[in-house]
Amino acid sequence: MMTLDDYNFENKQALIRVDFNVPLNENFEVTDTTRIEAAKPTITKVLEDGGSVVLMSHLGRPEGKEEKFSLKHIVAKVSEIIGVQVKFAEDCVDDEAQKASDELANGEILLLENLRFHPEEKKGDENFAEKLVQHGDCYINDAFGTAHRAHASTTVVAKYFNEKCFGYLLAKEIESLQEVLDSDDKVTAILGGAKVSSKITVIENILDKVDHLIIGGGMTFTFIKAQGGKVGNSLVEEDKLDLALEILEKAKAKNVQVHLPKDAIIADAFANDANTKITAINEIPEGWMGLDVGPETLIDFDKVVLNSAKILWNGPLGVFEMENFAKGTISLGNSIAQATKNGAFSLVGGGDSVAAVKQFGFEDKVSYVSTGGGAMLEMLEGKTLPGIAAIKNA
Ligand code: AMP
Repeated sequence: MMTLDDYNFENKQALIRVDFNVPLNENFEVTDTTRIEAAKPTITKVLEDGGSVVLMSHLGRPEGKEEKFSLKHIVAKVSEIIGVQVKFAEDCVDDEAQKASDELANGEILLLENLRFHPEEKKGDENFAEKLVQHGDCYINDAFGTAHRAHASTTVVAKYFNEKCFGYLLAKEIESLQEVLDSDDKVTAILGGAKVSSKITVIENILDKVDHLIIGGGMTFTFIKAQGGKVGNSLVEEDKLDLALEILEKAKAKNVQVHLPKDAIIADAFANDANTKITAINEIPEGWMGLDVGPETLIDFDKVVLNSAKILWNGPLGVFEMENFAKGTISLGNSIAQATKNGAFSLVGGGDSVAAVKQFGFEDKVSYVSTGGGAMLEMLEGKTLPGIAAIKNA
């Protein structure tokens, strides 16, 4: 597979699909620049080789052309971060846009207006894709966040180019996941979050790849109840009790050690100021619910994590949005940070654990934090992402 470093972009115009779906405040200022910064190395590589760049992205979920979702709002920020004054085309496929990209000189960047102002983008429309293709000599996909979507800009355009590859960001996402899941070392996966139902396919897929599976968060209680424990008013998916037992059986058959919490911090209401107690995980009284893991559990989990060479973390151990139930998630973050310091490789990805890692300052203390929630989850489920396949299988 060709990588970005196999190409020299001198006198070439690269059409790059980036993920500039960034949060804006009410004054249309970018409040989190992570995604723009993440795309910088790829853009810089093309410019430094002596090429030009046409950037395309979506922003939000517009219904037609909605001003508030215009990418014009981010032009100044992108220019500042990349260090080049970025030009802007007020549509992604009209004559003006084509003229602007035709006139682009080496060293210059053109940002196209929000792809999703055209419904054809999400439909993967061929005619629309053919127009986008006119903007470049080669295609780079660096948008991991949308790699699980078969949209015109993420998938369909790829087949029109002989020269195409992943950008640095997307390549790093793929490598990081391979580092954990295709490893012969001791691998531990930590799965938390709210529900078993949203993680079943992930659990089933990773049972073949890991040695230890730590389960935390709300989904714990479906497993505990299935084993005959008392879980009080904790979150339980009654229709998944059999499935929980099946998963435990499968894990046993595959020699995967499953670590469930031993104790919980329980509360008499789903509120930060609720009364709390610590109990055994399978002895939660009626009227109480488990909202975080307890101290015994954390000692257990810490040992497993510190003994692992590769660690994958998806989902918080408790209701971390409430300060009184964030301890478990913070403590696990500390254990993973320590393991990483000792030489382990740690990958955090898929939804809320990324928010937790950022909120509690672990971002620089783990090996890699994935930038794509849904895309990472689908990769963990063992799915082939269309955006990745379009480049790989060409
Ligand atoms: P997910 O999106 O599946 O990763 O779930 C994340 C959500 O799970 C967070 O909003 C947490 O507050 C929630 N969560 C974690 N532990 C629990 C719990 N014990 N009871 C209810 N919700 C929980």
